[in-house]
Amino acid sequence: MPIDFEGRTAIVTGAGGGLGRVYALELAKRGARVVINDLGGAVDGEGRSSTAAEKVCDEIEQNGGTALANSADVTNEAEVADMVQDAQSKFGRVDILINNAGILRDKSFHKMTMADWEKVVAVHLTGAAVCTRAVWPVMREQAYGRVVMTTSPSGLCGNFGQANYGAAKAGLWGLMNTLALEGAKYNIHTNCIAPTAVTRMTEELLDASSTQTLKPENVAPAVLFLCSDQAPNKIVIMAAGGSYSVAQLIETPGLHLPQEERTPEGIAARFERIRSLEGGYSSSSAFDHVANLLKAPRDE
Ligand code: NAD
Repeated sequence: MPIDFEGRTAIVTGAGGGLGRVYALELAKRGARVVINDLGGAVDGEGRSSTAAEKVCDEIEQNGGTALANSADVTNEAEVADMVQDAQSKFGRVDILINNAGILRDKSFHKMTMADWEKVVAVHLTGAAVCTRAVWPVMREQAYGRVVMTTSPSGLCGNFGQANYGAAKAGLWGLMNTLALEGAKYNIHTNCIAPTAVTRMTEELLDASSTQTLKPENVAPAVLFLCSDQAPNKIVIMAAGGSYSVAQLIETPGLHLPQEERTPEGIAARFERIRSLEGGYSSSSAFDHVANLLKAPRDE
């Protein structure tokens, strides 16, 4: 089935460049009206300009699409509320939110200031919560919504020098887990993308020879799928260079220990069995996890 976005309105945060710009162009090509949000600052979050958002908006309009430029700071509740209000008054509804805005302040943890910690967590994690809260009542009311959180291999796998960024990105995965449960009965699906692409944010981190392979255009198909009517719910798609995978939490079946073995030594003696992935499973919620864990095989 072809996927199109005719009649849909999407807000893409941080769409003035990099990955967000490509998502916005592709959504517009397939019929969506797109709000191009971007604060227009530097990679570390300093500065502000409306030019980045306006340029992408012009690009879409020149291609015959419909777009609206917006330079709200995703961490500012009042500015985000105005953005959603504008989208509704110009386009009538908001169906899709891609939380993509982000910054970097890389340093090894012992050199990181709390200011660098707070700014990165604020833009990625709190910014996504602010934007999602602003569209949530609209999506509930219309019984339709698609929300994409941008997590990262750094958050899911770890990356030297990115304690602040990795924590924020893993937090977005946690936010998705709960919003996917809360939104399900309103047909609001929340998923994550974990992209890798050469952009201004990563050009110094990724090998220059990978620019062609690791282009944002290779991530966009997964994001558009997560924004579509066919979107799953509570899924993390990892995308890089034309390869796509799903990341998910697998619990080991574990072991149920008799009372006298519930000691640190008892755990140490069985740790290889406790950690064995054979027969592993995923729990659908925290309660499901407890129910599953209590059924762990007995240590005979
Ligand atoms: P990018 O720097 O080109 O894009 C990020 C955009 O967010 C910028 O245009 C910036 O102006 C905007 N922005 C920053 N703070 C903002 C704020 N407070 N309000 C509104 N806009 C703001 O980098 P990118 O690589 O395209 O990153 C897009 C997203 O993908 C980010 O969340 C990033 O963490 C994530 N990501 C990227 C990669 C990668 O390999 N490029 C890997 C994992 C995750």
